[in-house]
Amino acid sequence: MTDIKNRDFWEEKARNLNFNGKAFIDGHYVDSASGDTFDCVSPIDGKVLTSVTSCLQTDVDKAVLGARRTFESGVWSRLSPVDRKKVLQAFADEISAHQEELALLETLDMGKPITDSFTDDLPDAINCIRWCAEAVDKLYDEVAPTADNTLGLITREPVGVVAAIVPWNYPLCMAAWKLGPALAVGNSVVLKPSEKSPLTAIRIAELAKKAGLPDGVLQVLPGYGHTAGKALALHPDVDTLVFTGSTTTARQLMVYAGESNMKRVWIEAGGKTPNIVFADAPDLKKAAKIAAMAIFCNQGEVCVAGSRLLVEDCIYDDFLQCVVEEVSNWQPGHPLDPNAVAGAIVDEIQLKRVLGYIEKGQSEGAKLTVGGQRIMKDMGGFYIEPTIFNDVSNTMTIAREEIFGPVLSVIRFKTEEEAVTVANDSVYGLAAALWTRDLSRAHRLSRRLRAGSVWINNYFGGDMTVPFGGYKQSGNGRDKSMHTFDKYSELKATWISLE
Ligand code: NAD
Repeated sequence: MTDIKNRDFWEEKARNLNFNGKAFIDGHYVDSASGDTFDCVSPIDGKVLTSVTSCLQTDVDKAVLGARRTFESGVWSRLSPVDRKKVLQAFADEISAHQEELALLETLDMGKPITDSFTDDLPDAINCIRWCAEAVDKLYDEVAPTADNTLGLITREPVGVVAAIVPWNYPLCMAAWKLGPALAVGNSVVLKPSEKSPLTAIRIAELAKKAGLPDGVLQVLPGYGHTAGKALALHPDVDTLVFTGSTTTARQLMVYAGESNMKRVWIEAGGKTPNIVFADAPDLKKAAKIAAMAIFCNQGEVCVAGSRLLVEDCIYDDFLQCVVEEVSNWQPGHPLDPNAVAGAIVDEIQLKRVLGYIEKGQSEGAKLTVGGQRIMKDMGGFYIEPTIFNDVSNTMTIAREEIFGPVLSVIRFKTEEEAVTVANDSVYGLAAALWTRDLSRAHRLSRRLRAGSVWINNYFGGDMTVPFGGYKQSGNGRDKSMHTFDKYSELKATWISLE
């Protein structure tokens, strides 16, 4: 009988865990041709978990060739949707059957609390694959409204070889958001996880095989962005590149596509989400509680983190006080403690980056109200206090750049017009939230906010039924919902003469 609410359970399980750092190509775990590896370090205590294969050009060539060969063979791409559905359902079942192990790998690898991995990330990834599997035999093609003497068919076909490059903050979910739809419609996929969190992607490759996915349909290439990632993005035989990660990398990937074969590039990138609180919010206490959760959960390493809190002038001081009181609920703990609500920052580089922004906020004149320090250093890992800056101007660096850590900028506004102007004054446009009981204002502003998701009187709202993605430099295209399949399909027009 397992007890997932018990830290000893997870620690015991961690001691007996097997780590696999190899690439998965054509149905087998392999080392890179060069034999190169890198250390996979746990941010919990800074200790090396295992060494991971570092894929380079030769490995990328091999994986893309295998993916292409399998795609052309039709063993997966021409399988009937209902049969692909069965395999993907079995894949979701396999992940589900290994939920504890995968949650543990995720937490050890990237430092998030075990409860988040087990109760949020794993179910999200499983649900995504299952949802896409279920959808694929309900996707109908179209017949065009042509004259009597012709038949116009509009059909969808898989694009071919999809390269998926994903980040470290939700390693398995971000992989699942790509794999679910890409595989469902019949593509072959070469997945490159982040070098900071490769372990779950590597592990699920064999679970996919066990579920019946033919060899070569899913290749997993651990490696660095500037080597394996770049080689994939420049590869002439990759048809579509799907990416989740930073806007800086996204920009580079678009250049690589232009320099190579004009592969389609679909981006889910960074954000600087405005969370706007009006004095007429239905429940200010609740709004404050959620404002804290919106920035401090997952250690602030969330693309849609509510990093800019815009508060109406007449409630500013009281509301700020309420958010400050919430901070004690978001102190980091040991990630294997099931009661921990926040964990470790993914690595030392990111830790220094976040601390650098905290310094910058102070030097530019924002008031450091709470936090700002590295803590729990004796554990050997990378932990930062939840941090709040008050009286921030939207022109300050901490309000403009994505920090990707537990740092909140609180900004004052006087009018609705000012709130919209400040909210939209960002290169990003991933999400926005607003709190008001005025229905007209809610509708008015939701239309004017330049963001892919707008949450009214809630935060992080959404499930597989609604699309997710960004305006402006937060990206293009959408993950989730039936719209996700657009990225993974070509639209074909077939014109048939009936004379
Ligand atoms: P990142 O851009 O540094 O890395 C993402 C991936 O790209 C990694 O696998 C990395 O190895 C690879 N990469 C890096 N340089 C590359 C290059 N030159 N060529 C090819 N591949 C390269 O991002 P990150 O630090 O891993 O993740 C954090 C970022 O991800 C944040 O900006 C966050 O907002 C964003 N994100 C966005 C969403 C979304 O849905 N919009 C979701 C999660 C995270």
